[in-house]
Amino acid sequence: MSVQKMEFKTEVKELLNLMIHSLYSHKEIFLRELISNASDAIDKARHESLTNKEIIEACGEWKIKIIPDTTAGTLTIRDNGIGMSRDEAVAELGTIAHSGTREFMQALKDASQKDKPGLIGQFGVGFYSAYMVADKVVVVSRKATEKTSSAIKWESIADGSFTIGDAEKDRPGTDVILHLREEDKKYLQEWEIRDVVRKYSDYIEHPVVMDITREQEDPADKEKRIKTTEEETLNSRKAIWLKDPSEIKPEEYNDFYKHVSHDFTDPAKVIHYRAEGTSEFTMLLYVPQHAPYGILYRDFKIGPMLYVKRVQIMDHCAEVLPEYLRFVKGVVDSSDLPLNVSREILQSNRHIEVIKKNIVKKVLDTLAEMKKNDAPGYEKFHKEFGRVLKEGIHFDFSRKEQIADLLLYASTRTDAGKLTTLDEYVKNMPIAQDAIYYITGRPDENILQSPYLEAFRTKGYEVLILTDDIDDLIMLDLQEYKGKKIKSVIKGDVSLDKEKQAEKEAQKGKFEKLLSRLKDRLKDEVKDVRLSGRLTDSACCLVAEEGGLDPQMEKMLRSMGQDVPSQKRILEINAEHPVFAVMNSMVEQGGSDEQVQEYVDLLYNQALLLEGSKLKDPAGFARSISKLMAGGGKK
Ligand code: ADP
Repeated sequence: MSVQKMEFKTEVKELLNLMIHSLYSHKEIFLRELISNASDAIDKARHESLTNKEIIEACGEWKIKIIPDTTAGTLTIRDNGIGMSRDEAVAELGTIAHSGTREFMQALKDASQKDKPGLIGQFGVGFYSAYMVADKVVVVSRKATEKTSSAIKWESIADGSFTIGDAEKDRPGTDVILHLREEDKKYLQEWEIRDVVRKYSDYIEHPVVMDITREQEDPADKEKRIKTTEEETLNSRKAIWLKDPSEIKPEEYNDFYKHVSHDFTDPAKVIHYRAEGTSEFTMLLYVPQHAPYGILYRDFKIGPMLYVKRVQIMDHCAEVLPEYLRFVKGVVDSSDLPLNVSREILQSNRHIEVIKKNIVKKVLDTLAEMKKNDAPGYEKFHKEFGRVLKEGIHFDFSRKEQIADLLLYASTRTDAGKLTTLDEYVKNMPIAQDAIYYITGRPDENILQSPYLEAFRTKGYEVLILTDDIDDLIMLDLQEYKGKKIKSVIKGDVSLDKEKQAEKEAQKGKFEKLLSRLKDRLKDEVKDVRLSGRLTDSACCLVAEEGGLDPQMEKMLRSMGQDVPSQKRILEINAEHPVFAVMNSMVEQGGSDEQVQEYVDLLYNQALLLEGSKLKDPAGFARSISKLMAGGGKK
């Protein structure tokens, strides 16, 4: 097939533009990215060779070779891995498959210069980082699974298009040839290359080699110097997770984390553990400092890398990690699994179950230890991942109390920016208080001013303030903690005082007529109207039934496209409030229907506003208020 010219997809064009024009620091990571791609390609070939021995013969000894050519001004990264067919090269190097690319580019535009390199790897746009140092990139690749020597040649000067044509190549694998820009020619120097490889790719299992030429004295003729060239391995290659933890320096742990996570900051926590006995495996796991982009999206890739006896099997093994711990990164290396393990086997494998159990235990124990011994560090963790962790209460029933112990909450008692725990909450409960109370709301709301808190404040009861979208669901799942029921202050009937309860009963008679007028007027809007045990200052509020959804939750489910039937609420009125004395006498003395109705509507609309809901007729509401203000409300 002849040489074909093709256009890059729009997002590649934009990405290349960014690579070329806005990323100037940490340019050297292009080498890490290309070596990492080469290493992945070798892993794939090796995996393939388990069932196809001819591949090993064709490819030879696995290695990645760096070839600087000072005359041509090119740097070649050569691997003898799986290679690419023509179609694969067009698809893989002409488009970006990852769905997060748009956000990535936006993030890249917004990020400060020092954060930009960290974003590159995270989104798997590694290959294009070549254009940070090269103005032209040529890729010559031959597929390892095909028997012919025909190869493909992909080429682009990042001008919006690339060409693809035929080539010859004596061995399978890929050559990525970078035509370096003048100012980036330093990457042709031996010491520069050594440095970058050691800094970023030391743990790569495959040898990263380079021909090193040395000048030596000729032993036969002292006047003469002879040149010898030898292939030297630049990386130490030791799989870090197999080393003894006592031999590993913190920097080594951190560097490896950056390799597996494509993060640019150090991890918050390292978990390195070897299990021996009926199941043998090693885990080197990390809790990151920051939540990566997309952690709340459905296509977020979950799970550590899975190795079987040092052979990489998959990039993300979701089977060993529950979703609520999806922030955990790292490596698991098993000695028990077969090398040709498939997804189906993983799903029902005893060893995988053991590994998963161990991971969950280790991670939760580590978090508990962190919470105990490093409160500021733990708070940071919680800020980033608390929302994800609490999903565990819903999905991992057997550990719900253990997970609940790890959650932090603001409350009506905590100072601004400070948080409490359920355990502390329970310890601080007055003897008379028999339940744990919480209120939900949006983070930007002034929840402390909520009328739903009035009676609790009067009683001196602490109320947890929950602002995550899923909090209400989580509390419904948790139901109780340390034998104390968990209740929402905006649901169900509240009676904090036994004496008040009796008083309320007595008042029912007094307000009977008014209550029935209210019920009658609002019969299409609310389920019931009753006297409130939770209000002290405000006139009225809307509450959900015990066990029902709170309005926050209802809105969230609707926004997710779920068909949530509209739930009628209960209107609670504060019998102590002067407005009811006025309304009561209005009703008792046969006030006009129109006036009573207007008051009832005003009350109901106020309650809607307090709940954070929209009014059906805001203009009517405003008119009534203005009328009252102008004195038209006087009898
Ligand atoms: P990522 O490696 O995160 O998928 P890249 O942009 O670095 O993203 O690479 C895109 C794709 O191009 C890879 O997934 C792989 O299929 C292919 N590719 C890149 N480099 C090589 C290589 N050296 N050998 C074989 N395939 C490669």
